[in-house]
Parts: sequence; C-alpha cells; structure tokens
Amino acid sequence: MAVMAPRSAGIPFSIRGPVRHCSFILAVGALLFALSAECLGAARIRVAIADSSTQVVLQSPAGLTIGRGRTAKVRRTITLTPADLGTDPILVRSRGSSISVNGKKYRGTMEVRRNGIGRIRVINDLDLEDYLKGVVAAEIPHEWEMEALKAQAVASRTYALHQKEASGGRSYHLLATVDSQMYVGMEGERPRAVRAVDDTRGEVLQYEGRLISAYYHSSCGGHTEDALELWGIDASYLRGVDCDCQRISTYGPWERKFSIPEVIGALRREGYPITDIAAVENGDITPAGRVKRVLFRSSQGMISIPAESLRSILGYSRFLSVFIEPELVDREIVISGRGRGHGVGLCQWGAQDLALQGKEYRAILEHYYPGTKIVRR
Ligand SMILES: [Zn+2]
Repeated sequence: MAVMAPRSAGIPFSIRGPVRHCSFILAVGALLFALSAECLGAARIRVAIADSSTQVVLQSPAGLTIGRGRTAKVRRTITLTPADLGTDPILVRSRGSSISVNGKKYRGTMEVRRNGIGRIRVINDLDLEDYLKGVVAAEIPHEWEMEALKAQAVASRTYALHQKEASGGRSYHLLATVDSQMYVGMEGERPRAVRAVDDTRGEVLQYEGRLISAYYHSSCGGHTEDALELWGIDASYLRGVDCDCQRISTYGPWERKFSIPEVIGALRREGYPITDIAAVENGDITPAGRVKRVLFRSSQGMISIPAESLRSILGYSRFLSVFIEPELVDREIVISGRGRGHGVGLCQWGAQDLALQGKEYRAILEHYYPGTKIVRR
C-alpha cells in the first residue's frame, strides 16, 4: 500500500497554552538526555542503506509510526515510491526492536527522502555500537580469531566516527557498501562479532589527539601501502608495513583475463578515446610495488590510466588489487596480481595471521597504524 508523504514531516509540534511549558521541559529534557548519551559514548550514526531505489517497503509486525504527534499514523507495512516523497524526509519508527527494509532487518529508525536524481535514499539512524554489530561480521568471517575481530571492531568504529566528522552538511555519514564499509543490519550480527564490539565498546584510534583515518582492506599481498604514494594522504600512521598475510590469505597470487573488446568497451564508456590495444604495461610504481598507472599503447597513442580507476572500470570483484603485472596474451589482457583491496592501513588477513600467532588486538592495531593510541570515547 502506498502512503502519501505526511504533511507533518518536518513541521514542528503546535504549542498552545499550558502545554507550551510542558513541551519546553520535555524538549530540554530530551536535549540533556541526548547530550549525556553522546558524552557516555552512545554516539549516533547515519547510514545510507539504499541510495537509488525506485520503491522501498518498510515493515514491522509490532507496527511502524510515520509522522509524529496527533498526525502520527501506524502501519505494519509502508510502501513508498519517489512520487510519495516531498521535499521533507519521512521519518519511520518501529514500535518493536527492528524495522525491515526491503526484506532486511535493521535496528534504529529510518529516514526516507529523495536523493539528487529523484530516487529514494533510505538513511538508517542508529546507535554506533549497534551499527558496528552489523559491520564486523560483514567485513570478516565471524569464525576468525577473537583478537582479529576486536581489531576490526576498533578500526570500523574509528573509521565510522571519522567519516561522521568529515560528512559536513551531508544527510548521511556512511554508505552500507564497500565504498564505506559493509553493513547489512541485523542479518550480519553474529555472537562472536557482537562480543568483539562489546569488549571494545567506545574504543577508537587516535594520533596526536585526533581520530585517525582508519583505512583497512582485505589482503595486502605482503606489504601495506603508503597512503601518500597511492592517494596523496600524508599520515605517518599510514606509511606501509611488512605483513605475512600471504601465508594464509585466499588472495595469494591470482590471475584474471579480460578480452580486448571488453576492455576497449569499458574504457570508451568512461570517455577514453581508444579503438584498439597493441600493448599494455605498467607506468609508475610505488616503492612497495603497487602500480599507480597502467599504459595502453593504441592507434591513438599511449593512453595512461590511473590503476585504481582501471580497477573500478573493470570491476573490483575481478580486478582485485593494483599489486599487478599486466600482459597482452593471445588477444586477451592477462592481469597477474597479489592481494585484494587498496592495501592501505590494516590488512584483514594479516590481522588474522597475527592473531593466530597469539597477538592481542592492541598489538595488531599498533602494527598497522604505528604511533597511534587506543582511547575510549
Ligand atoms: Zn597483508
């Protein structure tokens, strides 16, 4: 059932007569509660769990409320399309402990709004610690060593709060995908991952008193990357360190093949004027060995493409890292590589390797983010 946007969305409560004092006291009380909750580490986080939908279905057996005050409506199911949305967002709360959005259960509340291209953006607003319970086991296997899970929890908490600080006036802090960090709501919660979040509650990484950019990735291939080399980010705790992840990682040496028409088609869709490929080779390489640019020789001359852009163009799921050697073999471009992910910051497989050797999560984090401190917020 489609529900029209409630007129109450974004309109403040009407205040009349004696109720005014009551509302004022309640408002001050709510503000003090929010401030004290924030001081106690109960930070909120806003995650865009859908960003380009044409329809969203919200459900709760306990009932959903939309709007507020006397205009609040209660439904078990709310179906929204872009036509139902005005300029103000629609706030949806559950009378139970969760809201199902397009079949997936989440904690917290939902804000449904139009995005910049007239589609639906759904923002899940929830407690940071609850959010992390849906992140850790979505990022790494919950069967892994507890100290690796705890290292992931602290890195993810730090990353999330840093993104919140950097979000400026944006309506959300994070995406729910690998573009930020994976978050699948309550479906991702597993007892061991929840324990790792609880055991490190409020702990974040700081460098010289400030939250760090706690980047992390799947598997570095033997040495993590200097963020200055790859992204121009000058941070002494992101310089790159040795790592033994290759001993256990499933992303050891790998090889992927791309047909020349496939590569030409993908590059042309991105605006590169290329009609043929006669050769392919690496351009600049970082001291650690990652490729900064890939060069294609063609009738149009030498075309230089940032390696990370090429990864994005050809697909992260096949083009696993930029720790690579490209080659033209029998009308195919063969990419031989190591590791998975950008290689900056904590290496997840390396963290698991260190945990298997008996290292505690604090030592794991110190290894990948040297010079940082763990503090409790
Ligand atoms: Zn590694």
